[in-house]
Amino acid sequence: MKKIMIFCIPAHGHTNPILPVAQELVSRGDAVRFYSFDEFRDKITATGAEYISCDRFLEKLTQQEEEKMKNVNTTEMSIQDIRITINMTGFLDSEYKSFQPDAVYADSACFWGKLSAWKHHVPLVVSTSTFAFNQLSSQYMKNTPKEIISLLCGLPRVQREFRRLRDYGYEAKGFLSLVQSDNSTDSVVYTSKNFQPYSESFSDRYAFVGPSVFSDRMPEKQARPLVYISLGTVINERPAFYRSCIEALKAEPVDVVISCGKAVDISTFGNLPDNVKVYPYVDQLDVLAKASVFITHCGMNSVSESLYMAAPMVLYPQTNEQQAVARRVTEIGAGEILQADSADGIRSAVMKILHNSAYAKAAAQCSADFRRCPGAKGAADHIENAPNPSDGRDIIRELNKAVVTEQILYNVMAAVFGAILFRFISVRYLWIYIAAAVLLSAPVKNIFQRIYYNKLIHQVQS
Ligand code: UDP
Repeated sequence: MKKIMIFCIPAHGHTNPILPVAQELVSRGDAVRFYSFDEFRDKITATGAEYISCDRFLEKLTQQEEEKMKNVNTTEMSIQDIRITINMTGFLDSEYKSFQPDAVYADSACFWGKLSAWKHHVPLVVSTSTFAFNQLSSQYMKNTPKEIISLLCGLPRVQREFRRLRDYGYEAKGFLSLVQSDNSTDSVVYTSKNFQPYSESFSDRYAFVGPSVFSDRMPEKQARPLVYISLGTVINERPAFYRSCIEALKAEPVDVVISCGKAVDISTFGNLPDNVKVYPYVDQLDVLAKASVFITHCGMNSVSESLYMAAPMVLYPQTNEQQAVARRVTEIGAGEILQADSADGIRSAVMKILHNSAYAKAAAQCSADFRRCPGAKGAADHIENAPNPSDGRDIIRELNKAVVTEQILYNVMAAVFGAILFRFISVRYLWIYIAAAVLLSAPVKNIFQRIYYNKLIHQVQS
């Protein structure tokens, strides 16, 4: 019997995939303490794990902070994560002392789980409810200039909070080590190796266990197509969008189920057409089993569940992480990005998916791939065996070493070209040239990395 502590942030999308894993650990006779928040109490106790409430450690947010959190503002979320960690210090110190855990299973965004495991020298396994993001796979996320500026402006605030952690006995190599996946930490990722972008760049400390779903249920599609619409549980207050969906599909030969979230007042939709039903929350797996198309915000769980149930998708990503997921779905041919969120745009995207069976076929192939994964059992093995043995190979480190020469060459060429150029044009424009050279250096590095990556993978496979 092992003693395991589980930590998660207060979000359904992060909590849901951990539940079957907690249930599996409990069924093996492990003592499992699940540190979470009262909103999730029922779900957690249903797994058999001991629920421990952490609500009292949440910060009281100002209206402005709450707004930023709702919009998944990275700076604000990081600052709140650090403050909660600090608030929990005394409590966690005594929990570790009394429980003496063998392993900690912490959500990738849950700083207090990771930091406390490091502080108390307990093997850590990270639960990754999105794709695993390292320097290669994070290229799937495209930050807008506004997001980059907001991140840069927020960095000094985050660093200030981060430095406070030391006073409470928490050690981390740097802020990045708290948020990025690395090849020497045990991690569980709830997708298949085939669906994870750049999967070969992750070490054997990663277990790709497939989507964490409670159901063995097989898809049962209806003769009359069912279109399911949900924007998840976080940024879902979008009544105008749901109205456009109703307008788009009310006269089509399809049934429609909309999960609009608890914050939207359903009565504002007025009398609904006969083929449309709107609920604040549904049993999503049950609906997806019957759905022929899913209009989704591309949360990792929703997309995984959709593929598990062989439902192709109209992709309507709202954040850059969701854009990464959407891009991967288009790469495997199981969905199309929504080009316009008007009624016309929604209708034509849904019809395109319904009229071309290739989308459903690609989703069905992915479903079969997911169902071959080890699931919650594989995740539980990885946690019980932590720290997991490793062959020590780190493709990312090899890649960084491999492109050093190219990077030096790029810098030398940029300097030589600049020296030649500014013999002919005014030095006043030098700053434009330097800015362009700096901006270009990242994509140039990415190109070289991709070339080497393909070479390395070829070597590994042959
Ligand atoms: N969900 C559900 N019923 C609903 C809406 C959502 O069960 O009516 C669940 C869904 O099955 C998924 C999670 O909530 O497991 C949403 O997670 P996701 O990562 O897709 O999005 P997030 O809510 O984190 O944006």
